[in-house]
Formats: sequence, structure tokens, C-alpha cells
Amino acid sequence: MEQINARSIFSPATGFIRRGGFAWTCNPYLGCSFGCTYCYAMFLPQNRRPHAEWGKWFQAKINAVELARKQAPQVAGQAVYLSSVTDPYLPAERSLCLTRGILEALLPYQPRLLIQTRGPLVVRDLDLITRFRSIRVNMSIPTDSEEVRRAFEPKAPPLERRWQALAEVKAAGVPTGICVTPMLPLENAEEFARRLIAFAPDVLVTQHFHDAQGGFGADTGAAARQLLAERRWTEEDYRRCVRILHGQRTVYEAEAGFFPPPSDQPIQ
Ligand code: SF4
Repeated sequence: MEQINARSIFSPATGFIRRGGFAWTCNPYLGCSFGCTYCYAMFLPQNRRPHAEWGKWFQAKINAVELARKQAPQVAGQAVYLSSVTDPYLPAERSLCLTRGILEALLPYQPRLLIQTRGPLVVRDLDLITRFRSIRVNMSIPTDSEEVRRAFEPKAPPLERRWQALAEVKAAGVPTGICVTPMLPLENAEEFARRLIAFAPDVLVTQHFHDAQGGFGADTGAAARQLLAERRWTEEDYRRCVRILHGQRTVYEAEAGFFPPPSDQPIQ
């Protein structure tokens, strides 16, 4: 891990995040130690390293909390996406507490906050998260198979720990989202769909694994494309699972699912 001093901790939202209605993004880290094979962030201009090294490096913005304290008034009441090009709950966050410090700094200014993560560590900050009036915690759960997860996201947390963490978030009365983006090969599509429906997240987002050529979504890496081909997962497999879901609840596809929590949302 490298430590850097950033110039700013909130950046004007761009691309699909801006189109979704967010004004700001917040990334306490640059690079990502979870290193998902399909991550679109590895293609962004700020990550100017060989794609093969994605997941092997990350930088901590060591002055992130200090900056957040200074800049939080600027984002008061506006929609903030935490995080767009990294994960705010990387293992390093346990000791560095950058995301936690940012949440503390934001609290008095009550932005409309979306926390997007794969990290069960998010439950550590429920004492703060429950005090935001407009917030949603999105957890990425792209498959039902640990074998598939290990192939595509070898350094990311196991799936069951994500389900468990999101259940704790929900039990604390905080709105939740589940992102099956991209949907990776499934062991049992019917059972996975049943589980998603039974969990009843406030927002459910799916996306087919496609070559976005560096744009929104996934399958931007050769390694991921090869893994997918080996498993013979097709768009028809994806559509079959989505059809089951659509019959029973609202499902947003791709960009359409990344919108801020409503401004008048009460914490239960
Ligand atoms: S956790 Fe998110 S930012 Fe990190 S590698 Fe995976 S998809 Fe990319």
C-alpha cells in the first residue's frame, strides 16, 4: 500500500454516476486490493498502470479525513457516491479508518449518501450510517457460487459474509441495495433468484456480463472474458434469471439502478 496526499476528497460526478443523479463521488483509496477481474475501474485514466497489476496495488489518500472535514459543507444535502473507482471497505480500512472519518465529517451536512461495497466491514460503521437521514448501502453479490467468486474475485470477501453483513445493515433499519452487476455464472438460478427476492432489498440491480470496452459495467478484462468463456455463461442464462426476478419484484438493469436514495427517506 502506498500513501498519498490528495488535493480533494469529493469530485464532481461523471459518466453513469452523474447520469444517475449523483453530484459527487468520494474515493478514499485509489486502486483496489479486491482486484476483481472484470473491474471497469482499471481502465480509468487515474489508474495508469498495466491492467495485469490491477488488484496488486492501491493508494490510501492519507489526508482524506482532513480534506473531508474542510470540504463537507460543499456537498451538504447533495447526492454523494462512495465509492466509484475503489471499494470504501477494503481490508486496509479496518486500521486506516478513512471511510469512517469521512462519514463522521459528512454527518452534520446530511448528504444523500450511497455506499457501494463488497466489504462486510461496513457493519463496523453502522453507528454512523444509521444517523444519515438519506442513505442506502449497496452490496455487490454477483453470483451464488463461491467457486465462481474465487475465480473472478479471488481477493474479495466470501459471498456469505456479504449476505450476513447486508442483513445486519437491514436489521439496523438502513435501506439496502443488492448489485448483481455483472451477474457471474450461477450454480442455481432459481434458488439465487428466490434468495434475492426473500431478502427484499430496497433496490435490486442486475447487469449482463458484457464487453463495455471501458464504459459502464464489466467484462473489460481479457482474464474475465476467458473465465466466462470457460463457463459457457451466455446472455440467455442471464435473461432466464432476470425473468424469474421480474415476475416478482422491481429489478433495475445496469445504469438504471444506480440512483441516490430519496431525499426525504426516513431512517426506520
Ligand atoms: S471491489 Fe469494485 S473497485 Fe474494487 S476491483 Fe472489485 S469492482 Fe473494482
